[in-house]
Amino acid sequence: MFPLANFSIEAAANFRSLNVSSRFVRECRQRFSTSRSLNADSYDVVVVGGGAGGASLSSVFAKKSKSVAVIEPNAEHYYQPLWTLVGAGIVNYNKSVRPMAAVLPKRATWVKDKVVEFNPKNNTVTTEGGKQIKYEYLIVAVGIQMNYNQIKGFPEAFETPGVGSNYSKLYVGKTTEALRRFKGGNAIFTLPSTPINCRGAPQKIMYLADAYWTNTGVRSKSQLHFYTSQETMFDVKKYADVLTEICTQRNLNVHFKRNMIEVKPDTQEAVFEILDSPETPKETVTTHYDFLHVVPPMSAPDCVRHNKDLVDAAGWLDVDKDTLQHKKFANIFGIGDCTNLPTSKTGSAVACQIGILQKNLMQVMAGVKPTSVYNGYTSCPILTGHNKCVFAEFDYDKQPAETFPFNQAKERRTMYIMKKNVIPKIHFHLMLNGYWQGPAIFRKIFRLGMA
Ligand SMILES: Cc1cc2nc3c(=O)[nH]c(=O)nc-3n(C[C@H](O)[C@H](O)[C@H](O)COP(=O)(O)OP(=O)(O)OC[C@H]3O[C@@H](n4cnc5c(N)ncnc54)[C@H](O)[C@@H]3O)c2cc1C
Repeated sequence: MFPLANFSIEAAANFRSLNVSSRFVRECRQRFSTSRSLNADSYDVVVVGGGAGGASLSSVFAKKSKSVAVIEPNAEHYYQPLWTLVGAGIVNYNKSVRPMAAVLPKRATWVKDKVVEFNPKNNTVTTEGGKQIKYEYLIVAVGIQMNYNQIKGFPEAFETPGVGSNYSKLYVGKTTEALRRFKGGNAIFTLPSTPINCRGAPQKIMYLADAYWTNTGVRSKSQLHFYTSQETMFDVKKYADVLTEICTQRNLNVHFKRNMIEVKPDTQEAVFEILDSPETPKETVTTHYDFLHVVPPMSAPDCVRHNKDLVDAAGWLDVDKDTLQHKKFANIFGIGDCTNLPTSKTGSAVACQIGILQKNLMQVMAGVKPTSVYNGYTSCPILTGHNKCVFAEFDYDKQPAETFPFNQAKERRTMYIMKKNVIPKIHFHLMLNGYWQGPAIFRKIFRLGMA
């Protein structure tokens, strides 16, 4: 085998004069046209972020013989949906992690750096390491930013007992620890007032904690409270009704329109503002906790939200809700949690967006108007106990878009297995390799082709 990567095209041409086969020279040329980037820091497609959306789309475009660079600072890729089960002590954290080098496509260049500035007017991005990288087409897939420090007392409170959060690799282990140490008392679960990813996850951990403490005999000595900034248990009525009923039956206390603004670890107290209070500043309520699962306020990452050319008034990447194309810059597309797509921010939404973005970007590359339309499909497998799951699937209009030919609002063991064992495999083996664009095809088959 020749070490192709160390050869220049000129060297290959010299080989030609030495009677080396033209196929070999062609291979060298091809190899170097896909990696011309190594010298020029200029690529056909630059993908910013190597998470669910970024890694999958870089696989898609690397297969299409484009020169692709993925800019991603992390050495590891995380499958975050498993963190609910990690926090609950059911799945080992290592199952949610893969080395980044193993999930990014071999034919793409991994720039292990962080984007600090987008310069959409001259088609470049600037990295923390001081590189300027040029692109013809840009895919922004930087996910969402956890702003724990916007709650007074955080992140220091994580250093005290009884406090955890499934939303961060740093603190998910603290949820497990706190769950195991809890000996009864007040257990508090929060949901903040900003948009967040996976709106179901803040309540999933409450159901799993309820099941765990029932098994360990602690439940009878405890009160569980869900403090949510929302006014219903879920955005889609069909599932909200079922979840409300579950909370009533299991004696789970729900407090609507409450947003945590401060925690006092010394006295183990949490302070909530009452969102529908008419007063300014808003009236607050303080409550004691022995266990606290916190979900932080979230925003688009700083590199996006501080770029006025790229974002909407709320600071999210401003893309067309049908085509995922940026509203101002035709050669920029966005996917996933960092965008202002008006649907629930989930990995399953990302899967569906991959197919739409791929087709539309290919059309733009061919000089044609993008025509594929995203219907807002998203899903949320709400784990309602050990071996129980309500599998919510819906669209922009908050109408159920269920895949299976049975009522998914019913708690089912099969759907629990789907969430715990099947979907992670789809993520790692199919989606990240560019072979999964959501379950629409199965929905069609199960419904015999009917809508
Ligand atoms: C506890 C929890 C439970 C969840 N449960 C579910 C579930 O059951 N079902 C479901 O479908 N979804 C679930 N989700 C949501 C799902 O994980 C996300 O919606 C999905 O990962 C979003 O994909 P993304 O590509 O937009 O972002 P991510 O997968 O977060 O990837 C973003 C990437 O961008 C990188 N990045 C960030 N900033 C920069 C920068 N400046 N420069 C370069 N790279 C950068 C990051 O390092 C990261 O690798 C859950 C999430 C959590 C936290």
